[in-house]
Amino acid sequence: MIFVALVLLLGIFSEAVANVPVSKIADTWMVNIDSLSKEEDLSTSWQPVERHFKAEGKKLSCSFVLGFPYIFANGNAVKLDVPTTYENEIIWTPAKETIEIFEKAFSKKYVLDTNAQVLRESVPTVPEKVSSSEASSSSSAQIQVSSSSAAKASTEKPIVRKNAPAGSREVKNIVIDPGHGGKDPGAIGLITNEKSIVLAVSKLLEKELVSMGFNVKLTRSTDKFIQLSERPQIANKWNGDLFISIHCNAIDGNKDRKEKTKGFRIYVLRDPESEEDRAIARRENKVAKTYGDKNSKEELSPLDWLKIQARLEQYKQASYTFTEKAIKAYEGGKISKMGSGAGGAGFMVLVGAFMPATLIELGFISNPEEERYMNSEKGQKEMAKRIAKGVQQYKEAIDEYLKTLSH
Ligand SMILES: [Zn+2]
Repeated sequence: MIFVALVLLLGIFSEAVANVPVSKIADTWMVNIDSLSKEEDLSTSWQPVERHFKAEGKKLSCSFVLGFPYIFANGNAVKLDVPTTYENEIIWTPAKETIEIFEKAFSKKYVLDTNAQVLRESVPTVPEKVSSSEASSSSSAQIQVSSSSAAKASTEKPIVRKNAPAGSREVKNIVIDPGHGGKDPGAIGLITNEKSIVLAVSKLLEKELVSMGFNVKLTRSTDKFIQLSERPQIANKWNGDLFISIHCNAIDGNKDRKEKTKGFRIYVLRDPESEEDRAIARRENKVAKTYGDKNSKEELSPLDWLKIQARLEQYKQASYTFTEKAIKAYEGGKISKMGSGAGGAGFMVLVGAFMPATLIELGFISNPEEERYMNSEKGQKEMAKRIAKGVQQYKEAIDEYLKTLSH
């Protein structure tokens, strides 16, 4: 009996969302997102430095960045007409998209009451809330943001419109990015430097891939300098299916340490899990700063990661598939794996590529044995052949995947 009464009470008190403040800011109706999130029992957090608001619960996990025209909701990026803003110590998000996201997540309808300046749940059994004058006025009074048919349509189409299907189409265009070049030698060894090794290997790789039937483009085919940020842009312009940035690893230290540290490692753009990988990314990213790229940084901030999250998600599977194939193909050569052979870190050169992308550290130029091998014609041919085999196997894996779609 007490239990039944409690359920009834809870039924009354966990009543429909009724009083979420909305406000018209610069001609757009905006919702107090903190208030709406709390009404839906989401736990919220606000990081003032990152200007990042987060709301999380069982049905919905979403995040917003002030001034940034996207909402990340349940793993999808939703483009906003106007960015999230901060006014009167309240975080406001555009009503239209916010309502769509919440309606989808909680399977309910909301009504934006512009007269009362509140957002509430649409409850058909309470018609007295709508006065007759309001109901007949179509312009200024209540706006039913989602009619039931519109809501139905919105649940049927995906929130993110994927219009760049690299990674889910046949693999044809391979963009090879020989790291460094010109005034930037990259890491320097005893007998050569990184920019020379990676250019030589890239050209041989191009030859291999062309003979296999791929279209290949190099971001540089001579000893010239290109900013990190320009490299993925070249790949995008060329409509690449795969972006491979080629580098040599290096460490500082005494002779003993340099002789001990060796191996290859293939990286995807991902939040680094180890200090080691973080340091490697910092070293590669330093180039941009050293050579005057205004937007350069050595490490990606949490905000940067958030901004590229949707794109990373889109190409993650294909990037991982290539990395896996490339590690297997490269393994067994003169240079062995460093650890698992796979790593993740914030390489600036991969940020901005609208396609599956990896960065290969061929080996350590600071290790005399590996330097000699990477500098030799035989070594360069072998490395190119192995990477090409990885590309071929990646293509086959994608072909297989495409076959399953056509059945
Ligand atoms: Zn490098």
